[in-house]
Amino acid sequence: TEKLETRDPELFGAIRKELGRQRDEIELIASENIVSAAVMEAQGSVMTNKYAEGYPGRRYYGGCQYVDIAEELAIERICKLFDCGYANVQPNSGSQANQAVFLSLLQPGDTFLAMDLAAGGHLTHGAAPNMSGKWFNAVHYGVREDTLDIDYDQVEELALKHKPKLIIAGGSAIPRIIDMKRFRAIADKVGAYLMADMAHFAGLIAGGVYPNPMEHVHVLTSTTHKTLRGPRGGIILTNHEDLARKFNSAIFPGIQGGPLMHVIAAKAVAFGEALRPEFADYQQAVVRNAKALAASLIEGGLAITTGGTDTHVMLVDLRPKGVKGNEAEKSLGRAHITCNKNGIPFDTEKFTVTSGIRLGTPAGTTRGFGEAEFAEIGRLIVEVVDGLAANGAESNGAVEDAVKAKVQALCDRFPIYDRL
Ligand code: PLP
Repeated sequence: TEKLETRDPELFGAIRKELGRQRDEIELIASENIVSAAVMEAQGSVMTNKYAEGYPGRRYYGGCQYVDIAEELAIERICKLFDCGYANVQPNSGSQANQAVFLSLLQPGDTFLAMDLAAGGHLTHGAAPNMSGKWFNAVHYGVREDTLDIDYDQVEELALKHKPKLIIAGGSAIPRIIDMKRFRAIADKVGAYLMADMAHFAGLIAGGVYPNPMEHVHVLTSTTHKTLRGPRGGIILTNHEDLARKFNSAIFPGIQGGPLMHVIAAKAVAFGEALRPEFADYQQAVVRNAKALAASLIEGGLAITTGGTDTHVMLVDLRPKGVKGNEAEKSLGRAHITCNKNGIPFDTEKFTVTSGIRLGTPAGTTRGFGEAEFAEIGRLIVEVVDGLAANGAESNGAVEDAVKAKVQALCDRFPIYDRL
């Protein structure tokens, strides 16, 4: 019963500091969000104590009757959200959801086709240092030089040439809506499975502002902690019973042991929240706010790849100001605006430097920022970047301090976790 504060003051201190950081900084990392107190309560619950290898109703341990309720609720709710027949809610992460699909549909050495990491794909889509790149023959498509959007003609060309067993649509920095119908037509031409990795857009789909790819794909994987606003974790969804069976065996006993029942409980809470009408309002605001932020940055002289965004995410091209991504990330961080440096398509800078930053609106929208606030955030970003261009990376302190004060004022107007 001893409180964390007295039992482990060192760790408690770190958590309080992280809480302060989240309260007082503007979170623009596109893959992050701010979960509800209810989600955290479920995740911090006694369900963390329970071993429950297996699936509801067929576990390898006794005493699973209550964790079964949590997992069944999570499954039922996510199936409703995505209009699908089968769900596995046990993946510990988005990466493990993807691994389970590979284990189910591919043999080592098999070919799959996915988006290049440098163009907006994800590490688990066959990047060289990832297991998916080491154990399989990953072929990569990119974006068109003129639109910087997915090069569907190249997808088709590569599919016809390499005859992949699996094609993956989706990634971590794709601001435009993906043409899933086109992807499925290409997959059907070569007899490949089509998987959509909707980690970034899952919440947008659940909120009805992004088309649900379910009817076009064989399998959909996702994280649960980005736009979907749940605890950290993954899911696998399908409408094919035979595939669902394979994915279940691939998660357990294929690559995981006991599921994180406290996280699954928190997933159930988040999926319940996503079924409410307010969630659709929230997702509409996420997209509106992203457009307002992009417009403000463009007005300030920065470029947005693909010319704008249809989603929650955008890639800012800093080259018009002669500033590098790593410098911008650091300087903005000192001004309490958190984002990540990101290569832009055809970037000539090293991935540790980059010419861009990736920005997203999910977290800021959760705390209540609207279009006016995001337009102001855009101006603050331009202020910092202009300061970098004028003063250099080492001497932008005065600008950073001035912006930090304005950031604090904004955060104070939209407090989060004020009862913690
Ligand atoms: N897939 C995509 C498209 C992602 O953006 C991410 C996370 O960044 C993942 C998979 C992996 O998720 P996780 O970090 O939970 O392993």
